Amino acid sequence: MSTVVVLGGAGFVGSHLVERLLNEGKKVICIDNFLTGSESNVEKFLENPNFVFIKHDLIHSLPSINGQVDVVFHLASPASPNAKSPKSYIAYPIETLMVNSVGTKNALEFAHQKNAKFVYASSSEIYGDPAVSPQKEDYFGNVNPNGPRSVYDEGKRFGEAICSAYARKYKLDVRVIRIFNTYGTRMQKDDGRVVSNFINQALRNEDITIYGDGDQTRSFCYVDDLIAGLIGCLDVESGFYVINLGNPDEHTIADLASKIKEMVGSSSKIVHEDLPMDDPHRRKPDIAYAKELFGFEPKIKLDTGLAKTIEYFKTSI
Ligand code: NAD
Ligand code: UDP
Repeated sequence: MSTVVVLGGAGFVGSHLVERLLNEGKKVICIDNFLTGSESNVEKFLENPNFVFIKHDLIHSLPSINGQVDVVFHLASPASPNAKSPKSYIAYPIETLMVNSVGTKNALEFAHQKNAKFVYASSSEIYGDPAVSPQKEDYFGNVNPNGPRSVYDEGKRFGEAICSAYARKYKLDVRVIRIFNTYGTRMQKDDGRVVSNFINQALRNEDITIYGDGDQTRSFCYVDDLIAGLIGCLDVESGFYVINLGNPDEHTIADLASKIKEMVGSSSKIVHEDLPMDDPHRRKPDIAYAKELFGFEPKIKLDTGLAKTIEYFKTSI
């Protein structure tokens, strides 16, 4: 039986990945310090004999784990840019820089010792406020190196650089995955991200807060499609790969607000607040490379994914 280590497995994406791996019969060792994740995301796996949870902060070397490890997924990092959320990377600026730098180094060192494949969750944020659209992997980005978002953008860029260094120096088998906006069940309702904010505001009939004029775009990927890509990327020849994963179906934030309000049947007012500094104006992945490499094709339409997410939040409101 193969063994997979998931760093950040108590988070939104990580807990879906753990579930999928357990369903495939893998042994899963999940490491997390609950900085932005939650115990409730993993407690249902604890009765599975193939699941082990270790509470640990990745800025310290990984705990010793006996036996073979085949794959390490490094998903540990705060991920929301919303300064109003207690779980955002703006609220945890140093932690975000450290987990993506020192934490990634510790994770790579562990993978190197175990001769395991390494998958790093990078982000579309490495493209900053992109001057080209859609964004393809060979675009170097347009990033403010010291603005409020820089702790995440530059943290992820450092993470990519150290992944490439381990791949070059030690021939480590590495996939850097640039994840574009992903949503779905098990997002935290106070994470401040646009989908969770709009759904929770609509369910409570509170104002739906569009930042700026709402013309900015995002392309939303349902979490199951992302997980299919994270698993799919393991099936390519050994090497160093940088791969976009997301859904290229692009929407303005104003459209998203109206859609969610209508789907919930809410009486919320749609209001406008200030646009945060360096908020990217457009974001849309070019996913041709993932399609060519392992047939990646997101299947879940926005309406279907939103309906599932709305149902999830209804039960936790
Ligand atoms: P999340 O906050 O739900 O999950 C991150 C997990 O990492 C949490 O459980 C948190 O407790 C854990 N963690 C953070 N710092 C840690 C540390 N020092 N030691 C141990 N554990 C730590 O976020 P998510 O949305 O699930 O994102 C997962 C990964 O995917 C992140 O690396 C994020 O940057 C990346 N990503 C996500 C998206 C998205 O749309 N969800 C987009 C781009 C990139
Ligand atoms: N946004 C918004 N209202 C909110 C939360 C976010 O208008 O309550 C906007 C945000 O300014 C950005 C987009 O929605 O333009 C996506 O924000 P999110 O925090 O989900 O992720 P980002 O793609 O910026 O990392």
